[in-house]
Amino acid sequence: MYSERLSKGLYMIDLNPAGFDSLVASYVLRASKVAIIESGPLASVENLLTGLEEIGVGNEEVNYLAVSHVHVDHAGGAGALLRHLPNAKLLVHPRGAPHIVNPRKLWAQTKQALGRIAEMYGEVQPVPEERIITATNEMNIDLGEGVELEVLDTPGHASHALSFHEKATKGIFTGDAAGIYLNEFDVLMPTTPAPFHLEKTLTSLRLLLKMAPQKLYYSHFGATYDAIKKLRACVAQLKLWSETILGGMRDNEDFAGIYGRLLEKDVSMKQVADFVDKHVVLNDMIRRDVQGFIEYFKRYAFGNQYVRT
Ligand SMILES: [Zn+2]
Repeated sequence: MYSERLSKGLYMIDLNPAGFDSLVASYVLRASKVAIIESGPLASVENLLTGLEEIGVGNEEVNYLAVSHVHVDHAGGAGALLRHLPNAKLLVHPRGAPHIVNPRKLWAQTKQALGRIAEMYGEVQPVPEERIITATNEMNIDLGEGVELEVLDTPGHASHALSFHEKATKGIFTGDAAGIYLNEFDVLMPTTPAPFHLEKTLTSLRLLLKMAPQKLYYSHFGATYDAIKKLRACVAQLKLWSETILGGMRDNEDFAGIYGRLLEKDVSMKQVADFVDKHVVLNDMIRRDVQGFIEYFKRYAFGNQYVRT
């Protein structure tokens, strides 16, 4: 059982890549037309297809596959999935599109950044150009029955990141724009690997707050129904991490030192520290998150006063 009904016409599928549950989600929005949000990686395409079957959505009924950005865990399986969905078009940011048409460079970078976790997710699959619709800010995708998906430009985690706003029920599919959500603990964690951009992330979060959503649907992982509270908590967490990591950099701390400071300051992270430590994917992610902040502060002038290099 991979699928779960969230509300009328909206389903979540736990993609369960390489046996990791509650890690990567796809969402299926069904009105007169059907949209899938996030293909997930290659490793879980079969699970997504099983989920569709459980929901009772025929492969030929799917009209759109929308991806928040072209990272392996969100869009790596798009090319493989589309081979099963004869009538679906891929919605992707114009800057992401070339990398999914020809993912050679993207895959090389992914392997370099993620190592064995990249292999676990599986190689990024190419999508034929003619199946792509480039999705730009404020574009509306009409699914009929009053259901529309509005595209929101939400850079920061990636320069080409999108969120998808479902206005009728005030829900936003955030991709990685609003951090990740450890739903079993009700705890947020940043997702800030290089080339993370702090200012852009905060601007994107302001845009999401302006939409006054009630629900957030995280790709990692699950739905929340206190959207404003979560978005504000995400902003506060990013600010806390910024101060703490800058403090650590000032004192020439290594990862262990900085992470120790984060656990001292961020009570919610402390609560999940054991879980994260033991989790192969999250443990790797947290290291890259801290590194993403460090590289951001090194690159941009306002951090230089603090940084001894
Ligand atoms: Zn992700």
